[in-house]
Amino acid sequence: MSIFTKIIQGKIPSYKVAENDDFYAFLDINPNAKGHTLVVPKKEENKIFDLDEKSYLGLMQFSYKVAKAIEKAVPCERIGMTVIGLEVPHVHVHLIPLHSMADATFGKKEKLSDDEFQEIANEIAKNFS
Ligand code: AMP
Repeated sequence: MSIFTKIIQGKIPSYKVAENDDFYAFLDINPNAKGHTLVVPKKEENKIFDLDEKSYLGLMQFSYKVAKAIEKAVPCERIGMTVIGLEVPHVHVHLIPLHSMADATFGKKEKLSDDEFQEIANEIAKNFS
């Protein structure tokens, strides 16, 4: 069972921003920038291009809606989207509020307090429809 499946099942806490029957979105705990969000399919799959086409398109559609909510909640130039998956073998889309190229590099990290994480998660959740 992946760490993200444990999060989806509530066995590990997360700062949830959105959820439906098939997908779950929550804040990245080691964010490149404030509002950095991960979107995951609830069905555990390792690699994104091993998803069936319907699940892949569903993930993109859900990520689109989450990105719109982040854009409203977090001042930034644009939302960047990245898929890596070298650390956690459970498909996840990174949605990252970008202010500069450095925010897209995964080298620069932002330290946030529990209150700051909670506040930004609430703000994104409020704007998700
Ligand atoms: P990657 O698999 O390389 O795309 O990176 C996995 C991402 O998951 C990293 O950005 C981590 O900070 C993030 N991550 C790992 N564990 C957790 C967790 N428990 N809650 C939130 N994000 C996590």
